[in-house]
Amino acid sequence: VEAPVVEEAPVVEEAPAEVLVKPSFRDRLGKARSRFSGFVGGARGKSKIDEDTWMDLEDALLSADVGLELTTEVLEGLRARVKRDGITDGDGLLEALKDDLKTRLRSEPDELALHFAETAPSIWLFVGVNGVGKTTTIGKLGRREVDGGRTVMMAAGDTFRAAAAEQLEMWAERSGADIVRGAEGSDPAAVVFDAVEKATAKGHELVLADTAGRLHTKSNLMDELRKVRRVAEKGAGTVTETLLVLDATTGQNGLRQASEFTDAVDLTGVVLTKLDGSAKGGIVLAIRSELGIPVKLVGLGEGPLDLVPFDADEFVDALFS
Ligand code: GDP
Repeated sequence: VEAPVVEEAPVVEEAPAEVLVKPSFRDRLGKARSRFSGFVGGARGKSKIDEDTWMDLEDALLSADVGLELTTEVLEGLRARVKRDGITDGDGLLEALKDDLKTRLRSEPDELALHFAETAPSIWLFVGVNGVGKTTTIGKLGRREVDGGRTVMMAAGDTFRAAAAEQLEMWAERSGADIVRGAEGSDPAAVVFDAVEKATAKGHELVLADTAGRLHTKSNLMDELRKVRRVAEKGAGTVTETLLVLDATTGQNGLRQASEFTDAVDLTGVVLTKLDGSAKGGIVLAIRSELGIPVKLVGLGEGPLDLVPFDADEFVDALFS
C-alpha cells in the first residue's frame, strides 16, 4: 500500500521588514536592563539589606552610566529613606529605588510636549553630531506627524553630506512629507529659509529641519547653527523646538556634546536615540539631572515607529523588571 501523499503547507511569505507595532521599553531595553539584572536578582526576596546589597547597587548604577555624582546622591537619599521608613528587605529597597528614580525623571506633560506656534509654520530644528540619528529621527517624526494629519515640510539642512539629504528624501517619500534640498555644500541656512518659505506658501504646519553635525572646526559648526537658528525665523515661521539628538550608546560623552550645543543654541529638549542598542540607560538620569533639559523622545530602533515619547514610569519599570 502506498503511503498517502502528504502535501506540504504552502510557504508563507515573511512579513515585510517594516513591522508597524509601537515598541515597548521593556522589549527594547534588553542591554540596559542587563546592567541592573544582577542587582535586581540579588535584592529580590532578600530578607535583609546589608553592605553587599548597597555595593551591588552602587556597581549597577555606575556601570549603567548614571555617573559618580548622581550615583552618590541616589545612594545617600536611599539610605536615609530606608532608615526613615523602616525598610528592611530587598523588595522594599527595590521599590524605594524605583520610586526615587521615577520622581527624578518625571516631567510635567507640558515639558515633554513638542510645541507649535500660534501661526504656522512651526519649525523644529534638530542638532547634534554626525551619526547620532538626526536624519532618522526627523524621518520617524515626519511620519508620525503626517499620520497624525499634519502637513510637513522637511529641510535637508545637512548640506555637507549628500548622503544625509538622500536619506531624508527617502523618509520624506515614505511618509508623505515634502522636502527642500540644496546643492551639496550650499548654505544650510538658505535651505532652511527656503523650506520655511515653501511651507508658508503651501500652508504647511510644520518644518522639520536637519542640520550639519560636523564642519571643519567646532566653532564653525556652532556659528553655523546660530546662523541657521536666526535665519529660520526671518520669514513667517517660528522655531518652537530646538532638539539635541544624542546617541545613548556614547554614554557620558554625550553630556559633553550637550553642553557645547547648549552654548550655541537654546535647547528645548533632548532626543535620546539607540536606547535599544548597547546603551546603558543610566544616561537618561544623568541628562535629566546634569542638563536640566527634558528627554522628550527616545529612539528604540531603526523602524518608522521606533521613536516614542519618553515615559519615566515605564522606563524605570522596564529597567528593574
Ligand atoms: P545623523 O548623522 O545624525 O543624521 O544620523 P542618522 O540618522 O544617519 O543615523 C545613524 C545611524 O543610526 C543609522 O544607521 C540609523 O538607522 C541608526 N539609528 C538612528 N536612531 C536609532 C535608534 O533609535 N536605534 C537604533 N538601533 N539605531 C538608530
